[in-house]
Amino acid sequence: MVCNRAIELGLNEIAFTEHLDLDPKDEGYGLYDYEGISKKLSELQSIYDGRLKIKKGVEVTYQSKRENEIRQFIEDKDYDFILGSVHLVGDFDISGDEGTKRFFKCFNRKEAFLSYFKVTNSLVQSGLFDCLGHFEMIRRYGISCIRDYTYEEFKEPIDKILNMLIEKEMALEINTSGLRHLPKETYPRMEIVERFLDLGGVRLTIGSDSHLPEHIGYRIPETMELLISMDIEKITLFRKRVATGFNLR
Ligand SMILES: [Zn+2]
Repeated sequence: MVCNRAIELGLNEIAFTEHLDLDPKDEGYGLYDYEGISKKLSELQSIYDGRLKIKKGVEVTYQSKRENEIRQFIEDKDYDFILGSVHLVGDFDISGDEGTKRFFKCFNRKEAFLSYFKVTNSLVQSGLFDCLGHFEMIRRYGISCIRDYTYEEFKEPIDKILNMLIEKEMALEINTSGLRHLPKETYPRMEIVERFLDLGGVRLTIGSDSHLPEHIGYRIPETMELLISMDIEKITLFRKRVATGFNLR
């Protein structure tokens, strides 16, 4: 169903990025089945051969204290694409409503955002991943708890992250799920994508973060059009963790 939807939307390829959660407290802990996923994806690839490329990706929940575990886990796997995402800041699950509320109760506004940027920066610095997933997703639940921030307000830590992405030759994901959430903007917002490009960043990927078939490719065609209007000619795709360019025109 997911693959047919992707073809209908005119996509050439789709990456499945199941969550890998290595924290026992995480609700996804222990659910990841590498063998099962690999088998399923190669079956799908033979069914859709010539019509749709199916990529084996993974979205890893980053925690600095688990860098070694993450490294060991991915070392012997043959992924096309490894996405690193921040879902936890300390013990707070900022990808959920509850955790985000507690997070903003325990820290003042500035401290809270700064600690989110700090974890994001360590993720990038770790060099473990091909791409930074849904940067700024803290806004999803954050902005109903506390006043939203602007790029200008946190220019310094944000630029530090963007420069580190460039240094590590990592891609920045433009995640369209934010368009259907409260921020009504991509993660990260386009202003930050533009800043990344101004600083010399070239690697961008687009993801819809769909957990439901109706969200497959969610607003990806219009996001591609938007990038074309910004004079961006290529986005980045990964095969066996090697980046290639995909022409948008
Ligand atoms: Zn995520």
